[in-house]
Amino acid sequence: MTSTAPRTPQDPPAEPAAGPAVALTGVHKTYGATRAVDGVSLTVARGEFFGLLGPNGAGKTTLVEIMEGQRRADSGTVAVLGESPWPRNTALLPRLGVQTQSSAFFVRLTAREHLVTMAALYRCDAAAAERALASVGLTEQGDTRVDDLSGGQRQRLAIASALVHDPELIFLDEPTAALDPQARRSLWKVLRDLKGAGRTIVYTTHHLDEAEALCDRVAIMVEGRVAALDSPGRLIAASSPTTRLLVPADRLTPDRARAIPGVDRVTEEGGSIVLETLASGRVLAAVDEIAGLQGVQTRTASLEDVYLALTGTGAPQP
Ligand code: ADP
Repeated sequence: MTSTAPRTPQDPPAEPAAGPAVALTGVHKTYGATRAVDGVSLTVARGEFFGLLGPNGAGKTTLVEIMEGQRRADSGTVAVLGESPWPRNTALLPRLGVQTQSSAFFVRLTAREHLVTMAALYRCDAAAAERALASVGLTEQGDTRVDDLSGGQRQRLAIASALVHDPELIFLDEPTAALDPQARRSLWKVLRDLKGAGRTIVYTTHHLDEAEALCDRVAIMVEGRVAALDSPGRLIAASSPTTRLLVPADRLTPDRARAIPGVDRVTEEGGSIVLETLASGRVLAAVDEIAGLQGVQTRTASLEDVYLALTGTGAPQP
């Protein structure tokens, strides 16, 4: 693997905001006969919230570990904040923040004590720990023992642990896995705030609604390759312009629905007649005349539809 040569003390200091946060070209990694990462090229811009999606086994973890410097790519070039993360680059490590599924905690300490300890590992002071606590909305729980935090609060603490040394690039691995919908939504705010503060985030998730809501761009990986890479909005727009109208089944018969000009397909689904159309405005007006609009729902394509089309699978359960 080649990449930007490590800097020597004689080199001028790197411009902090110069170049992309991550630049990968033709990255491969095999484990025996398994092509875990099979020729991935992508860049992550500074300040970008970048999502890595794909079914289990698609190569996301391997790719992230290569970016983090935990694994060596077999071939290709890897530049993270302008540096090569391999061989283990001790100058780069403090510039990265890593939250993993198995984030370790000092469970007998309070949340604040845990963060102060984490901060000390990076030679940061207690004020840095306090800032990290506040940035994930945990100030009030600062004196709660890690053991006694809820699942959602622990996830926040894991993120705070990755932030405490003020890294330029943050890796978040399914930060909302195993959270109930309410805790998940409240963590979205934390993630949005990180993005608002100009952080660069590389984030893996199985929650497609979340990726759609949060990410500037997503890469959908399938069998080690990038099958699609763009903003969720552009991926959705390119995938299907079809709108689905759901009309309560007691208000419209399938035959009547099929007769409406502009309706391409009619199906029944859980107590609704579903009308697929490319002319939603015209069809909605016709439905209004026949049945009224009360209870009628409109569904446009989502990132999940794009994902399903590319992977041929449902979103795996986290
Ligand atoms: P994902 O994170 O998308 O689930 P992974 O990167 O974990 O994907 O795995 C990609 C492929 O590489 C899978 O087929 C997986 O079984 C295989 N794999 C991952 N890690 C190893 C390893 N340490 N040794 C052998 N095979 C591995």
